[in-house]
Amino acid sequence: MSYNAWFQCIKGCPGQYSLLEIIYRCPKCGDLLEVHHDTDALKTRAAAAWVKLFDDRLRQNSYPYGSGVWAKKEWVVPFIDNENIVSTCEGNTNLFWANRYGKQLHVEDLWVKQCGNSHTGSFKDLGMTVLVSVVNQMIANGEPIDAVACASTGDTSAALAAYGAAAGIPTVVFLPRDKVSPAQLVQPLANGALVLSLDTDFDGCMAAVQEVTKHKHIYLANSMNSLRIEGQKTISVEIVQQFDWEVPDWVILPGGNLGNVSALAKGFLMMYDLGMISKLPRLCVAQAENANPLYLSYLKNFAHFEPVTARKTLASAIQIGNPVSVRKAIAALQRFNGVVEQASESELAEEVARADRTGMFNCPHTGVALAALRKLVERKVIHGHERVVVISTANGLKFADQKIAYHVGRLPGIQGTQQNRPVEIAADPRVISETISRYVERTRLLEN
Ligand SMILES: *Cc1c(COP(=O)(O)O)cnc(C)c1O
Ligand SMILES: [Zn+2]
Repeated sequence: MSYNAWFQCIKGCPGQYSLLEIIYRCPKCGDLLEVHHDTDALKTRAAAAWVKLFDDRLRQNSYPYGSGVWAKKEWVVPFIDNENIVSTCEGNTNLFWANRYGKQLHVEDLWVKQCGNSHTGSFKDLGMTVLVSVVNQMIANGEPIDAVACASTGDTSAALAAYGAAAGIPTVVFLPRDKVSPAQLVQPLANGALVLSLDTDFDGCMAAVQEVTKHKHIYLANSMNSLRIEGQKTISVEIVQQFDWEVPDWVILPGGNLGNVSALAKGFLMMYDLGMISKLPRLCVAQAENANPLYLSYLKNFAHFEPVTARKTLASAIQIGNPVSVRKAIAALQRFNGVVEQASESELAEEVARADRTGMFNCPHTGVALAALRKLVERKVIHGHERVVVISTANGLKFADQKIAYHVGRLPGIQGTQQNRPVEIAADPRVISETISRYVERTRLLEN
């Protein structure tokens, strides 16, 4: 059986375009494109046979099927040559049972999908392996592409630079100056990308990269390029697979440019259409209060959408006021009976710290999602018996600076109820023993 996929306008204008064509928007209406799969062809394989194929590939080492993304190759880019795939064995991330934290929230079936346990430390690897692989295929086919470029709040550029370097394809990243963490800045530097540090915000970088990539020899890697969505949608398949093909009641994720929520929706819908699952989860997009255009629109039942000027937030990867994929996101939320929540700076920082105390090491964006979970539980939108999955989008190690600042009380405007400072004492066993005793006592008091 040969499977196929192509680009099509999200508004439904006629016309199909090859995934190997350099095109990001519908030539008729200018809106975004999305990847369509030949569903009839996919349906010739029974649901049980897809389940078996994907389960078998979990244990496979043969390249590229050990990757959580390429294990679903037929659903991603079916026709690409395996030798052109650029993979770091991304995906197949742990679904962490947040047992102790869940008990504190009275949600006992709580799971955190650790998408930040990945090659460059964020879920952006899942989309970037697909995009860079397709570029690699195009170059192999003789397409004159000089470089791949993206605007980024930090994680997209890290992923692009790494996959580009792995393939030997030059990359250019557009970063808003002083708005990404040191770890995020050093990643593309180390991988040899051309790092453009622009005196603007993310939305300004996005406008600039769209202008520059009008010349077809510079290929655009932002998530308006829906190839990335094809990789990210495998998060949904992995989650269901990790629950032995059961669907959770809720999936909560932080949203900025809003590509990932549309990706998750797409993954669930594909399994649904192919008869592998018989219900859909509810979705919650969590936004930082300082960059909350989707939340504001949600309050008006999505009757209007107004971009905002994003204000500074600790959750810097979602400091986006004019999300490119907003229409796809609203459609997804409507289809999945979704909700939108927001979290203030103090709420997200405290939630990160509380959850960290139960063994996680969260990034601020995951903190936004966890704070949203707490609010939904308090408002009884989410019930204690429901199975909830929170998408952790990045590795907390990328945000060491702000996490240290929290613990030593140097985050302006944040009280820091969970502060934990290093104890500076003499290397004297007696003093050390006393200090340990006081620590044990204090911890016992907190527990009871
Ligand atoms: C990109 C990113 C997001 C937001 O994803 P969108 O698809 O832009 O909504 C959230 N968290 C982290 C860590 C990210 O890198
Ligand atoms: Zn169109």
